[in-house]
Amino acid sequence: MKTDYDVAIVGGGIIGQSIAYHLAKENVSVVVLEGNAVGSGATRAAAGMLGANSELDDDDAFYQFAKESQRYYHTLNQELFDLSQVSIQLFDRGMYKLAYNEEEAETLKRALPMNSTLEWHPREQVLKHEPTLSSDLVGALYIPEDGHVSPVDTCLAFSKSARFLGADIVENVPVHSIEKTDEKDYALQTAKGTYYSKHVVIANGVWSHYFLKNLDLQLGMKPVKGECLSVKSDKIKLEKTIFYDHCYIVPKGNGKLVIGATMVEDDWTTEPTFGGIQSLMNKMAPILPDIKYATLLDTWAGLRPQTIDGKPYIGQHPSGEHLYFATGHYRNGILLAPKTGEMMANLIVGKQVKKEYVEAFSLTRHIQQVMR
Ligand SMILES: Cc1cc2nc3c(=O)[nH]c(=O)nc-3n(C[C@H](O)[C@H](O)[C@H](O)COP(=O)(O)OP(=O)(O)OC[C@H]3O[C@@H](n4cnc5c(N)ncnc54)[C@H](O)[C@@H]3O)c2cc1C
Repeated sequence: MKTDYDVAIVGGGIIGQSIAYHLAKENVSVVVLEGNAVGSGATRAAAGMLGANSELDDDDAFYQFAKESQRYYHTLNQELFDLSQVSIQLFDRGMYKLAYNEEEAETLKRALPMNSTLEWHPREQVLKHEPTLSSDLVGALYIPEDGHVSPVDTCLAFSKSARFLGADIVENVPVHSIEKTDEKDYALQTAKGTYYSKHVVIANGVWSHYFLKNLDLQLGMKPVKGECLSVKSDKIKLEKTIFYDHCYIVPKGNGKLVIGATMVEDDWTTEPTFGGIQSLMNKMAPILPDIKYATLLDTWAGLRPQTIDGKPYIGQHPSGEHLYFATGHYRNGILLAPKTGEMMANLIVGKQVKKEYVEAFSLTRHIQQVMR
């Protein structure tokens, strides 16, 4: 069994797999150590929306990074398929944020002057595109660039492509500790033996709170549980993702709809509750009247990794050692995975990374803010 690598990545969710893929492309010897099964954490729970425009309000480095990541999916779509034979299921028909009264419409319209890609569609236009929506709406904000992918398939496509390019992906090996050694740079203790590497990337989602603490970083990371359900319907014909009152319906093709998601802070449980699923059903039933005839397929829950300011940590440990974090992607880890993988690989191999991104996602940004 090979145990010596240039880079060891802790966590095989979409973030860890994207980093492995981008490092393998650079001919770096890399292993992903996944405590459970690949993509079994928050990645498995996600709806897969690429919501750069619908999720982020400020025109800052975070938004630019998100936009680049969203665009990068269009290149990766074919690139990953060629290497892995797995389709990431990129749907690119945009999103409607609905308004059911004038006040909601005015609030949504405020985004129009800030983003030239957005359009206001009045009621008739919305219903022409989406005739199965309830007809008492006022209109909708159309966000053409916010499509979606399948998170599980994207994670798998990154993983298989990374393997194809030489990466090792090891499942069922939770990493218990990371220590600096004399001869080798880092020793990662797992239940199945010790792995050694020159660089370590901690990318284990919400569970990285443990390593943040144990590696002397006073950075908070808490779970925000999200519950979802999926249904199948032949009656409902949705083209675009529908967003209303903090909830969404994502049409996944072949009549399957994913409906999400609740936001429960500081809850580490990963089973959906009756109340959580009921609240989603109550919100969505008036919007799609025919949903009452849909077949219930599944319910599930996952834990979003939330940092102090809601932005991820992508960068080096402040000690300057070869220890990195790529975690805390909160509500947008699927959207941000392509650029996170590319950025982390570039940091490790010494390629140029935009200064604004290094600063925006730095692990010391909170300390610097306090000092200013
Ligand atoms: C309900 C819900 C809906 C969402 N919808 C969207 C969406 O539409 N669009 C979007 O962009 N984002 C969405 N997200 C957010 C997205 O899912 C996350 O940001 C993303 O999956 C984080 O990926 P990750 O790889 O960092 O973490 P995870 O996917 O959680 O992966 C971490 C991995 O680390 C492993 N691990 C943990 N501890 C160890 C250890 N000690 N050793 C080894 N391995 C370990 C875990 O088993 C897990 O596989 C949603 C999240 C939820 C919960």
